[in-house]
Parts: sequence; C-alpha cells; structure tokens
Amino acid sequence: MSPQRFEEVLLRIKPFTRYIYLHVLGEPMLHPHFGALLQLAFQHGFNVNVTSNGSLLGRLKVEPSVLRQVRQFNFSLHDAVENIPPEGLEDYLLGVCNFVKAYQGSCYFSLRLWNAGADGVSAFNRYCLDVLNREFGLSMTDDVLSQRSTTLADGIYLKNAARFQWPGQVAEGCASRACYALRDHIAILSDGSVVPCCLDADAQLRLGNIFTDDLQALLASPRAEAIRKGFMNRKAVETLCQHCGFVLDK
Ligand code: SF4
Repeated sequence: MSPQRFEEVLLRIKPFTRYIYLHVLGEPMLHPHFGALLQLAFQHGFNVNVTSNGSLLGRLKVEPSVLRQVRQFNFSLHDAVENIPPEGLEDYLLGVCNFVKAYQGSCYFSLRLWNAGADGVSAFNRYCLDVLNREFGLSMTDDVLSQRSTTLADGIYLKNAARFQWPGQVAEGCASRACYALRDHIAILSDGSVVPCCLDADAQLRLGNIFTDDLQALLASPRAEAIRKGFMNRKAVETLCQHCGFVLDK
C-alpha cells in the first residue's frame, strides 16, 4: 500500500477510531515507506502500535524522533525460534534489547514469548530469559514463563501465552466462542479489504473494501451483524471462526 493510499485509509477510518495497529500477519518494518506511514498516522492524530518480530531493527531507516511517537511496540521473540539461526540469536536479542532501552520512556514495549506448550522451545525460552536477565539486571527464573505478564523495567513487559493457532488451524470445530472482532477492532489489508479481525490475513471473512465501500455500511452489513451478534451470544457463526485458536475467556 502506497503512502497516498494509506493516507486515504486514515481519512476514512478517522471518524471511527484514534488507534491503529500496524500488523496483520506481515512484518510492518519490511514496508519500504514504513517511516512515512508512521509520520502520516501521527500527522492525522492516531495512536500507533506496531507488532514486529524485531529482526529488521538494525536496518531501520526511520528517524528516532518519529519512532519515539509510537505508542507501543510488540516484539514477537517467539518468532526467532523458527526464523533466526542459533548462531544469530544473541545478536537478534541484543538488537531488540538495545532498541527497547534506547526508546524506554517514550514507548511501551511488550516482549512476547507466545509459545507455551510448543515442542522444543524450553531451551530457547530459557536462553531468552538469560539474555533479558543480563540486559535488564534481573534474576528471573523459569517461573515467569508461566505468568502472563512480568515487568522487566518501567514500561517494558515480558508477555507469555500459549502458542497460537491461526483461524482454520484448529482441527476440531467449536461454535461456542466469543471474540473481540467487530466489538473493538476490524482489520484493513494492504489491498483495502475490510475484515472483522486482525487474524484474517487471507480475507476469508471479507466485508468489503475500504477504498470503494462506505465503512459504516460495511459494519452494518448482514454478514458483519451476524458475526458481531453471534459473538455477543458466544456463538461463532463463520466456519473459519469455529476453527480459530483465538478464544475469549470473558
Ligand atoms: S474467531 Fe473469527 S473473528 Fe475472531 S479472531 Fe478468529 S477468525 Fe477472527
């Protein structure tokens, strides 16, 4: 999505929200105009959260004054176990820690280890803890891996959760579930597709297109209404949702 198209999206969603989250499966820092997108969002008064695997931080060409305006960075450390070779792990983790320390006080940081229960991650998680202990002067033990949130420093948190199963990946379908989709967020994909949630990267629950349709009308469309009302009654009406790993407790 070009910066011009991105700004068009910003103008269309402005009446609905003040918060945007730059992610939907993809890595936002891969975008060649990532800095320009951030600046546009700030110019239009949006609070911006960024979810990234953090692997491109060393090559990021964005002014510190722009990065400091990001509300929150979420770094998916769990991604490294599959995508960073063991010999590159230390550099990767140090890159994330150095970035976090450099911007502490301006932004919030969530360092995510969302891999509880996954095969073969114990040694990786322990290694992450060792590095975080060293970098933040802590003495965390493995116990923190079973806690949802641990404060590493002011505004910097380690977040643990079970390994995620994407929509459609859960073999056994379940129609009884609730979800935040359409209650507090929607997602807009790079081609402008409007979908109910930030997990629907393939637009299987496509409601329409932000560039050609009226957003208010899309949110009131029969499909959107059915999904929203279903979740209010803990009922997943779409097959994709019945096989999604995201389940809301409350
Ligand atoms: S349950 Fe459906 S709407 Fe909710 S996150 Fe999963 S796929 Fe998206």
